[in-house]
Amino acid sequence: MKRTSLSIRNCPICDGEGKDTVFPYGTIFNKQHFSYIKCVNCRCVYVNPIPDSSTFSLMYDKSNYHNIHYFDINLSEYESSINVLKKFLTVKKNTVLDYGCGVGLFLKLLTNYGFIGTGVEFDKSAANHAAKYAKCEVLTTDGFNSNISKDRFDCIHFGDVLEHLSDPYIIVHQTLKQLKVGGVLFAEGPLEINPSPVYYSALFFASIKRLFDRRISSSHSPTHLFRVSAKQQLDFFHRFDDLEIVYWEVYDTGFPYSYGNSIKKLIAKIGKLVGGKSFFNLVFGNRFRVIFIKKK
Ligand SMILES: [Zn+2]
Repeated sequence: MKRTSLSIRNCPICDGEGKDTVFPYGTIFNKQHFSYIKCVNCRCVYVNPIPDSSTFSLMYDKSNYHNIHYFDINLSEYESSINVLKKFLTVKKNTVLDYGCGVGLFLKLLTNYGFIGTGVEFDKSAANHAAKYAKCEVLTTDGFNSNISKDRFDCIHFGDVLEHLSDPYIIVHQTLKQLKVGGVLFAEGPLEINPSPVYYSALFFASIKRLFDRRISSSHSPTHLFRVSAKQQLDFFHRFDDLEIVYWEVYDTGFPYSYGNSIKKLIAKIGKLVGGKSFFNLVFGNRFRVIFIKKK
């Protein structure tokens, strides 16, 4: 596919061309400017350019990332994920790869339920922490990629990880080689531009703010390299012709307004109530869970 401009990479979700900078416009991190680009084809939003290796290391250094993002995790969501997974995977089929396992919270739960877990994590110190915490093998991404063996796992889990990858299609494609035929691919994560009361409110408040402050950049770390709706996320998986969908769920946690002031908490509550419901052919919600069986 042709590129619109050498400086704008193609869409990580559909490989379409990117054009125009959109909300949240941009961020300056590690002395580099990152723009949010809209895909002309699927209309998802993604970060351009891809952060370089020093920026990735800075973003995912355990003290910068895991110690901040994992301290207030709601473990009941992991329990719900395990309950969904158990409908399609028995402990007899028991090897599960948790790609992007973070500090090992989901891995530990997997092993508690009798599965044999293996983790993969970008940062070495986080990988070591996860291995100790979950009492199972955890490799760094480099270590994992240097030893690919076919048909190794009964299940591969991508939990809140795809949006952190510079090329999610390549990573899912490569990782799927290690999934047995008949094995389960389980993915879950955020839908950051899907209809939801929190998303619409955030857009509204941002447009008001921009009336008074025309600066186009902020200084947050660009850890989420794309933002998608439910349809865009599902269309991404449909690019893999060896996967058959057996489960699809959209729901709402009210995040991040569930941690905000009383007005935000109310909006979050409404979000949770309407999450998963359809209005005018649009399914509301800020998260997805999907399960596929590898057919060939
Ligand atoms: Zn696209």
